[in-house]
Amino acid sequence: MRPKEPPAPEYGYAYVNPPRSGNEINGMGVPEKIPPRKIAPDDFTIEDYDYKDLFDFFFMTMSWPVFKEFVLGMFESRKARGRVAGRRTEVDDPVSMATHVKQKAEEIGFDTVGITEARDELLLYEGDRPYPYKYAICLGTEQDRKTMEQVPQPEAGLEVVRTYRRSSSCSNRLAAYIRSLGWPAEAFAVGRDILMMPSAIQAGLGQLGKHGSLINRELGSNFRLTLVLTDLPMATDAPVDIGVEDVCATCRACTRYCPPDAIYDDKKMVRGVEKWYVDFDRCAWYFSMTTGCSICVEVCPWSKPGRGPKLSEIVLARREKN
Ligand code: SF4
Ligand code: SF4
Repeated sequence: MRPKEPPAPEYGYAYVNPPRSGNEINGMGVPEKIPPRKIAPDDFTIEDYDYKDLFDFFFMTMSWPVFKEFVLGMFESRKARGRVAGRRTEVDDPVSMATHVKQKAEEIGFDTVGITEARDELLLYEGDRPYPYKYAICLGTEQDRKTMEQVPQPEAGLEVVRTYRRSSSCSNRLAAYIRSLGWPAEAFAVGRDILMMPSAIQAGLGQLGKHGSLINRELGSNFRLTLVLTDLPMATDAPVDIGVEDVCATCRACTRYCPPDAIYDDKKMVRGVEKWYVDFDRCAWYFSMTTGCSICVEVCPWSKPGRGPKLSEIVLARREKN
């Protein structure tokens, strides 16, 4: 897929005071293992403040339908928590309970589900208070591929926020179901201060791609993540190797099509780990200018419907042979 007429990567937003580099805040080049920092904390500090200007620009220039979905999504978030039923369903078999929860999640509308332990180092930004839950259910919701083929046009941006809203509503329903079994559960959709990707990788939903997004075997990167944290005892999943590293080693689709050249061809040291990393300073303003861009995730070969399983099979077989 080729992006249709992406806007030129010209300067999209004129800062009054150029902010401190987002790459520095993200810990690019830092050899120590330290927790991630928020680019735009709730209490903006002076050095981070100008990113608020960029985010304001993003919100002020978005179309009315996109804005409406955002507002409705925020309204939806009031159902993330709720009363836990007084009578508890005891769990003798965590494996069966995990299977049951996954079936329930799919019935509610999720396209992929994985379970892992809720670990502070996977969920929290620097200085955040721990969440009082034992398990993280990681949930993926597919975006409509036909609409997403229009990236980076506003129709695709609208589909992204629609998917976020749908996944928010579905995660609220799953959390409510778990609470009805007598176990605490809370839904975490976009906009909540929590990291999602590290838990999703642990839960076997996919692997990190060169474009900085998660790649799932069936959905590619054409999906959005949400979490439900809970104490309901469930068997956990393990990380997967579907061959993303092998494909990213030679593929350059995302680097080639990224208009502001934000995607590096080599891994970077980020907070003590060598990994794929996207240049925040380059991506952020183009992303804001185009209501969410998403070119990189849609040109990724894994995102082509039906291609992932075959691709995984081929690269893993090739690796085995060598
Ligand atoms: S989302 Fe960011 S990294 Fe991806 S193509 Fe757009 S500008 Fe590049
Ligand atoms: S487009 Fe290619 S290089 Fe980029 S993440 Fe996908 S497979 Fe990796």
